[in-house]
Amino acid sequence: MKISTITNLAYGVTVVLTVLSGFAFIMSGQMAAEERRAVEVHMALNDLGARLEIDAELRTDEARLYVMRGDPTHLAVFDKINEEEHRLEELARRAEALGSTDEELALLKETTATIDRLEEIETQAIKTYQGGDVTAARAALFGDEHYGQHVRLVDEVERFRKMVDVRTGLELQRAQIWSDWLGSIARILLGVTAVVFLAVLYFVLRRRVSVPLTRMTGIVKRLATQDFAVEVPHDGRSDEIGELNSAIRIFRENGLERERLDAERRRDLKMKDLILQMMHRMQACQKVAEVAEVVGRFSPQIFPELGGALFVRNEANTLQTRIGSWRLPEDAVGNFDPEECWGLRRGQPHHSSTDGEDIDCRHMTETCNSSLCIPLSAHGDTLGLLAFADISGNAASIREYKAYLGMIAENVALAVANLQLRERLTRLAVRDPLTGLLNRRSLDLALATHVREDAAADLTCFVIDIDHFKRFNDEFGHDAGDTVLQTVSGVLTEIVGERGTCYRFGGEEFAVLLPDVPAEEAYQIAEHIRTRTATLSLSHTGRILGTVSVSIGIADSRDGRSLRTVRTRADGALFAAKASGRNRTVRDAAAEA
Ligand code: GH3
Ligand code: MG
Ligand code: MG
Repeated sequence: MKISTITNLAYGVTVVLTVLSGFAFIMSGQMAAEERRAVEVHMALNDLGARLEIDAELRTDEARLYVMRGDPTHLAVFDKINEEEHRLEELARRAEALGSTDEELALLKETTATIDRLEEIETQAIKTYQGGDVTAARAALFGDEHYGQHVRLVDEVERFRKMVDVRTGLELQRAQIWSDWLGSIARILLGVTAVVFLAVLYFVLRRRVSVPLTRMTGIVKRLATQDFAVEVPHDGRSDEIGELNSAIRIFRENGLERERLDAERRRDLKMKDLILQMMHRMQACQKVAEVAEVVGRFSPQIFPELGGALFVRNEANTLQTRIGSWRLPEDAVGNFDPEECWGLRRGQPHHSSTDGEDIDCRHMTETCNSSLCIPLSAHGDTLGLLAFADISGNAASIREYKAYLGMIAENVALAVANLQLRERLTRLAVRDPLTGLLNRRSLDLALATHVREDAAADLTCFVIDIDHFKRFNDEFGHDAGDTVLQTVSGVLTEIVGERGTCYRFGGEEFAVLLPDVPAEEAYQIAEHIRTRTATLSLSHTGRILGTVSVSIGIADSRDGRSLRTVRTRADGALFAAKASGRNRTVRDAAAEA
């Protein structure tokens, strides 16, 4: 039941009870008035009875004095009292107006008849006295009949008074009972009204004031401790409590908004901090693959909703090769033709999504419903692609992070460009551009490293020289000589493979370092190189160049032979090979001894 219904009901009950108690009080007052009236009637009737009796006696006295003394004054008084007695008798006949009962009226009638009888005897006696018969007049006034009538009058008045007393007593008793009863009812109703009023007051104060205030105090306490999870129900009230509740709701909503902004700011700061850390690490990367590893490590922390992959283009720009991916299945982000990517085609970040807003990048959309391809551009060149894909199902997250993703891509592009430049420069510094083999500087560094670390105690070194190389230059030109150099270096690389490292030592001289290869196996490798070279049929621009042979000197650091002199000893062996007729393999003399 609604509070308003209860209060209205209680108000109605209170009003009804108040009206009833008021009515009972009025009735009780009327009973008191009735009591007063009964007393007044009692007094009037009593007085009437007494005066009837007294006046009758006074009249008798005056009649007797007149017949005894003959004084006319007494006769005059007799007449006057007689007149008064007649007036009283008239009053007695209309006593019902005073509140007399029928029984009382009947008794009063008897009384007035007795009075009339006495008057008759006395009037007759006076006449008899005036007629001269004093004795008869006196005998009549003092005789038995007069006495009998007088006694009767006294008796009748006495009975009348008793009758009035009894009736008045009963009436007073009844009025008293009613008055008491109605008074009690009025007091009880007043009491019940007060109880109902107090109960409603308590109910209203408790339900409408105390309980809401207690609830709001609890809410405010929780809000004071930044606990904005607390619910502030909408009570729909328009009074002061309702206004207070609305104020608390607004306070909570402001708190929630502030908390949301704080969380956003903290998340933003954390994101920026992680991005900064990622950039610092990218700057310290030595290889492009390390950049992919760094991005793959930090990106899931910065953007938990996103997976991604890093691609770099090949030299010919015909393929984008994946060098790293995170939070995406490997087969979802395979290598792809640059033409498949709208980001690479346009040189702009491109957002693909299944909602059909824009054209899709085929290489990404097969596995996710929202992706962003950001071309990696640096120094005016497009080096590759940084791709992100939503894995949370919230397509909005990519748009939300777009600015940050662009910033990261910019840094990745710069890092990749720097590392690719560095790799190119390094390659130029350590490799021979004609054959692609490591150069003499690299050989010196490798030998110095072996000496410093003393790691390869059984290092074998070949020094290989092409026999009569000058002839190719002289007969077929320098380019043909270059072709011979490239072909021989190819043979070297192929035969040595993973077992050692090949170097172009000088003009047409090569070196091979073989760590941990047994002496006999090393010799066989050298012989393999020599015999394979001898079987080559060389040609350049359609011209047959003829055969080519190499002389090989071998030295190693086994059996206490010095690592420091391994190359010079190999040189010596080569010299011996040349001296002994070329196209042969000669071991270091120290090894032979
Ligand atoms: P030997 O059998 O005694 O080693 O005779 P050789 O002709 O091979 O030796 P020589 O030292 O007389 O000649 C080496 C030639 O190699 C001299 C030089 O012009 C040529 N040469 C050096 N570097 C290059 C190069 O990069 N390209 C070409 N085409 N020739 C080179
Ligand atoms: Mg030479
Ligand atoms: Mg030579």
